[in-house]
Amino acid sequence: MAFEGVDFLRLDELLSDEERLARASVRDFVSREFLPRIQEHVRRDGSFPMELVPKMAELGLFGANLHGFGCAGMNHVAYGLVMQELERGDSGLRSFASVQGSLVMYPIHTWGSEAQKQRWLPPLAAGRAIGCFGLTEPDFGSFVSGMTAKAVHRGDRWVLNGTKRWITNGSIADVAIVWARSEDGIRGFLVEKGTPGLVTSDIRGKFSLRGSITSELSLQDVEVPEASRLPGAEGLRAPLGCLTQARYGIAWGAIGAAQGCYDTALRYAQSRVQFDLPIAHHQLVQDKLVRMLSGITKGQLLAYRLGQLKEEGKARFDQISLAKRDNVRMALEVAREAREILGASGITDEHAIGRHMANLESVDTYEGTHDIHTLIVGASITGFEAYR
Ligand SMILES: Cc1cc2nc3c(=O)[nH]c(=O)nc-3n(C[C@H](O)[C@H](O)[C@H](O)COP(=O)(O)OP(=O)(O)OC[C@H]3O[C@@H](n4cnc5c(N)ncnc54)[C@H](O)[C@@H]3O)c2cc1C
Repeated sequence: MAFEGVDFLRLDELLSDEERLARASVRDFVSREFLPRIQEHVRRDGSFPMELVPKMAELGLFGANLHGFGCAGMNHVAYGLVMQELERGDSGLRSFASVQGSLVMYPIHTWGSEAQKQRWLPPLAAGRAIGCFGLTEPDFGSFVSGMTAKAVHRGDRWVLNGTKRWITNGSIADVAIVWARSEDGIRGFLVEKGTPGLVTSDIRGKFSLRGSITSELSLQDVEVPEASRLPGAEGLRAPLGCLTQARYGIAWGAIGAAQGCYDTALRYAQSRVQFDLPIAHHQLVQDKLVRMLSGITKGQLLAYRLGQLKEEGKARFDQISLAKRDNVRMALEVAREAREILGASGITDEHAIGRHMANLESVDTYEGTHDIHTLIVGASITGFEAYR
């Protein structure tokens, strides 16, 4: 049976035709093209169905809420729904689109020179070029402002040294956005594949986001021209601004993973018979299903309102932190309860639940951990920063 989504509060009635159409086309793509392929990639650790990239581009999934340069120019709710549908497929699929759009195209679009925009945005939107975002370092994750990657200005060139770790699509990227400390503060650089001194290697042995490439970038005396520096990106607020964009997409995406798990668990509970009754007849199973539905419905309301605020240019970073934090944790809890409802069947990769559950551990950690978002919201409401 086709996946129909979860809409307990008739939120669909609030959506425009354009928003419903965007959601429907991605839902169909995920069901027909992505889901039949993902299991094979997950079994292989660190591979992504690259043959789907042109189709994703055709659907306008890269930089979908950006305007011009071949981008789809969707509104923020339509964009969120697209992220939701992608993550029903797999968090790695949504990550691919999030990194390309929010972490690579957005900074070029926002802080790039006209030449950088012309050079990179059309091929990135068309999926002819892949990008990655190098912020995290082996010794600096949450405390990213401590980064040690260095950028030294020499004549009309910059020399970059440092290591970036946990970088999605790092080894396949045609262009890496590398954040490094210069004597004037943190700056962003476009480093092209094949630049001497740039070496990438993939991180293996992941139990989470196995259908996604995660890499380390090592930069040793990598030289780039001044024209490769993002001219408008000054200080940590630039990479943090990219993360705010990506976190908005994650807040929606997590709902998709949760919906996929809930849908599977509900269907299973209605057909699996124990003690002469479908297990959906037993009160404790209903309790789990209701908790799942309740979490998804509240997550939808949160994301939708955030989308409205973003559309009006009023969404704040702390509101986005709250939504990323709550919706990802909600999805993790939904995945765990769904696994429980499937009993032993829930531990195999015949069903997507175990894959979502493992993926969501990464999603709970990346783009700011659950606890760091707690502290962001805590600082916002109390006025006291508790990071240190
Ligand atoms: C699959 C995957 C893909 C990723 N992709 C990218 C990417 O494309 N680009 C990129 O730059 N990065 C990427 N990351 C990195 C990710 O953003 C970091 O993992 C994340 O920021 C957390 O950093 P860390 O793992 O070093 O954890 P740490 O910062 O070491 O945190 C470890 C624990 O300590 C807690 N903690 C830390 N500081 C505090 C504090 N002040 N108070 C209370 N608790 C605290 C954290 O909440 C966490 O529970 C990716 C990560 C994963 C897993």
